[in-house]
Amino acid sequence: MTVSLADIRHELAIANRMVAHEGVLDAFGHISVRHPENPNRYFLSRSRSPELVEPGDLYEFDLDSEPVTPPPLPMYSERVIHGEIFKARPDVNAVCHHHSADILPYCITGEPLAVVYHLGAVIGAHVPFWDSQDEFGDTNLLVRKPEEGASLARTLGDHNMVLMRRHGATVVGGNLREVVFRTIYSCRNAEYQSAAKRIGKVGTLTPGEIEMAGQLHAQPNTIARAWEYWVTRLEKAGGMPPRERAAPARKAAPARKAVAKTQPTKSKQMKSKQTKGKRR
Ligand code: MN
Repeated sequence: MTVSLADIRHELAIANRMVAHEGVLDAFGHISVRHPENPNRYFLSRSRSPELVEPGDLYEFDLDSEPVTPPPLPMYSERVIHGEIFKARPDVNAVCHHHSADILPYCITGEPLAVVYHLGAVIGAHVPFWDSQDEFGDTNLLVRKPEEGASLARTLGDHNMVLMRRHGATVVGGNLREVVFRTIYSCRNAEYQSAAKRIGKVGTLTPGEIEMAGQLHAQPNTIARAWEYWVTRLEKAGGMPPRERAAPARKAAPARKAVAKTQPTKSKQMKSKQTKGKRR
């Protein structure tokens, strides 16, 4: 099955909205996906809250995180997180950077994240901790310079996610749906780890359990089931993004004029309004 670029861009918009709708992303944070035909490019939204991202907001970047065409609107300042990880990890095709409330206590205390329940195995056997102070001293904490992104990618190594001191986390996956799955369930794991600590001793999965459960969670069927669930929740909330408008506005323009010249009947006017409403 061939998947069109339009489908991939639509799915990336859905992923941004979905992870926001599930309470991980808020006004900030972002998800990217590698270009399926050109591994040296990736797609990421313009600077916009993820819950509002539409396919038309997505820009194409090279791995130095420079836009392929001059962008008309401001870009995310932390896009080097994505570019430098795509550079360092050929196996990674999607990246999510976030500042979730469930993860932040671990970024603040340095307390290690551990796999405390079945689905939490998505975090892998070890979650590294990146401290921008180590190489860069005082900064405004945003990861904006290529060398900062590269440093973060080095600390991530071959792991599934990395915690960022007093900032947030970055999660990677082999594809977009996998990164969404890992992002949401790693936050649940952190939430349960904190809750468990409040009532007693925190037990963890064994390394063997993490390995086996991790393989299970990487199954397309497992990920597809969760994806369908989150899409349905987003649909019910009326949060699905519109499809990208088919390109050439030039061709569409005369047709619209012609319609405007003729006097549409009232029912026709209403129908067109309804259609518009539905598409939003
Ligand atoms: Mn950030």
